[in-house]
Amino acid sequence: LPEAPVEALQPDDVAALLPRPRPDAQKYTRGVVGVRAGSAEYPGAGLLSVAGAASGLCGMVRYVGDDAVADRVREAHPEVVGAGRVQAWVVGSGGGKHAGDELAAALADGVPTVVDADALRHVRVPIAVPAVLTPHAGELAAMTGADRGDIEARPLHHARSAAAAYGAVVLLKGRHTLIAAPDGRVRVTTTGTPWLATAGAGDVLGGLIGSLLAAGLTPYDAASVGSWLHGAAATLASGGGPVTAGAVAASIPAAVRGLADG
Ligand code: AMP
Ligand code: MG
Repeated sequence: LPEAPVEALQPDDVAALLPRPRPDAQKYTRGVVGVRAGSAEYPGAGLLSVAGAASGLCGMVRYVGDDAVADRVREAHPEVVGAGRVQAWVVGSGGGKHAGDELAAALADGVPTVVDADALRHVRVPIAVPAVLTPHAGELAAMTGADRGDIEARPLHHARSAAAAYGAVVLLKGRHTLIAAPDGRVRVTTTGTPWLATAGAGDVLGGLIGSLLAAGLTPYDAASVGSWLHGAAATLASGGGPVTAGAVAASIPAAVRGLADG
């Protein structure tokens, strides 16, 4: 792999990449994201993935999944609709034993896809669509067979080699979030707080990145902008104290406003 320097993402970079609605925007032209997450065993992960996706950065969110979860999604997010065409998928959070089938259904559509959590171990090389894989160290270990401790000790090495091996953007979560592209480029997210180490935070991130893919960003830029905004939202919601994943999702629009610039 070429040893490209790691780029620390700055607010100006994020502001320049942010998808903004044009004056003649319509909800469909802003992009539609579909969420295949949550299950009877893990409904909350589906709700939180939808919460990240429904932060307003694309035009519409569709939920396609477990019927009982769908009822709760409609209650919590009345703007979310059902099956139909999408420009990007988010798959895996809380999918449990259905995650493999959900991944296959999403990949069959041929659109850019975020693969998280339970779906990660079903990814086969080469992945046939532009993709963002969002493992933490334990999930990356399960995917590649590498030792978890070694991934934690050498996250840059492991993120870059996984991106090259899978032909996908790999966003490796942890104390420092690294975003590695298959061509060797790597960005590191400069926002966030250790208070983010809380259940559901990753589900919100996957949904958010999916909405940015639907809005037309490349996988590398969607992962970068999503991770930066997620960390900034967490810092706003935290104010130096504890946060819940739901509070992080609710603070995403404020993190976008904080970028200013129109
Ligand atoms: P997950 O492991 O899927 O629940 O995702 C956890 C989220 O919290 C990711 O966005 C991580 O980057 C973030 N996170 C976990 N641990 C830390 C930490 N020590 N410092 C900052 N962010 C963290
Ligand atoms: Mg997770």
